[in-house]
Amino acid sequence: MGSITLKQVTKSFGDVNVIKPLDLHIRDGEFIVFVGPSGCGKSTLLRMIAGLEDTSSGTIEIDGNDATSTPPAKRGLAMVFQSYALYPHMSVRNNIAFPLKRAKVAPKVIEEKISSAAKMLNLTDYLDRKPGQLSGGQRQRVAIGRAIVRQPSAFLFDEPLSNLDASLRVNMRLEISELHQRLDTTMIYVTHDQVEAMTMADRIAVFNGGIIEQVGTPLELYQTPVNRFVAGFIGSPKMNFIDVKAQPNDATRSIGVRPEHLKITTEKGRWSGKVGVAEHLGSETFLHVHLDNGDTLTVKADGDCALSHGDAVNLTAAKDKIMRFDEKGITIYKNAAGGSEAKTA
Ligand code: ADP
Ligand code: MG
Repeated sequence: MGSITLKQVTKSFGDVNVIKPLDLHIRDGEFIVFVGPSGCGKSTLLRMIAGLEDTSSGTIEIDGNDATSTPPAKRGLAMVFQSYALYPHMSVRNNIAFPLKRAKVAPKVIEEKISSAAKMLNLTDYLDRKPGQLSGGQRQRVAIGRAIVRQPSAFLFDEPLSNLDASLRVNMRLEISELHQRLDTTMIYVTHDQVEAMTMADRIAVFNGGIIEQVGTPLELYQTPVNRFVAGFIGSPKMNFIDVKAQPNDATRSIGVRPEHLKITTEKGRWSGKVGVAEHLGSETFLHVHLDNGDTLTVKADGDCALSHGDAVNLTAAKDKIMRFDEKGITIYKNAAGGSEAKTA
């Protein structure tokens, strides 16, 4: 089991409120990602769940039991850090065995667990090496192996892939997703990278300044963001925003349109401008179009798009692909609110 419920939890360092009253229910077995810009409180909340950081107020329940003041070792959770936190003088085998030896597990059982974790993580041939003799990806797998052998009720990952190069990150992303499918254990995964969030999560919680703006599946957040922050944070390249006023004295509202929803037309479109930078990636082309009014729109075009710097373009977008935001940045939906859970702030 591994359901975790946060009820009105807060965290202050001195008089700085880093986590504002926050509610969240994490279901047993789900892969939930905490995503948000640097400094918004993701690691702090993860450390509070792990028990490495005190909770200033509110309660943390693990499997229905109040665990707010339970010491970390008794919570049954395993944390994997960006920095790996391996013992450099110990072999891979002993690094993985460490939590089991400390818990006085029988040597034969330890051997079995190490061998099964090593097989799962492709580490069998490296068990006698020291961490210094491994690549970054292998070290991260050792850290995960050390978590797996404890059979925790939930895994807590804090930016585990940030130290890896781009291609290795993509591989490890897949490996962690496959591991989740195989183990069927709750995983809470912290990242500032929305692509990691979108590709790995069952549900994503979008953090901003110590609150959760929205919780939902990747597609819910993409299709029905509750506000401009979520709309701009989810999706790559980012949604384009254009300020609009119905009357000169109106409060500023805005509309948003994603780069993949802008179409280049030969006849007069909704917007017109000139191509600034054109990024030809082969599979797709990103055009940064400077409008006559000074705004810049990013357009995602086909890979074989022949437009380049200085070309004049007309742009349009289907009406149902244009989002509208009120003067507070809240998304205006014609029929009721968006599809996912309401703002928790
Ligand atoms: P994130 O992981 O989202 O980047 P953190 O949870 O690490 O953000 O930090 C959130 C905020 O809390 C930051 O402003 C950070 O400076 C502050 N903070 C984190 N730990 C401490 C601490 N021990 N003392 C004081 N402030 C802290
Ligand atoms: Mg962090």
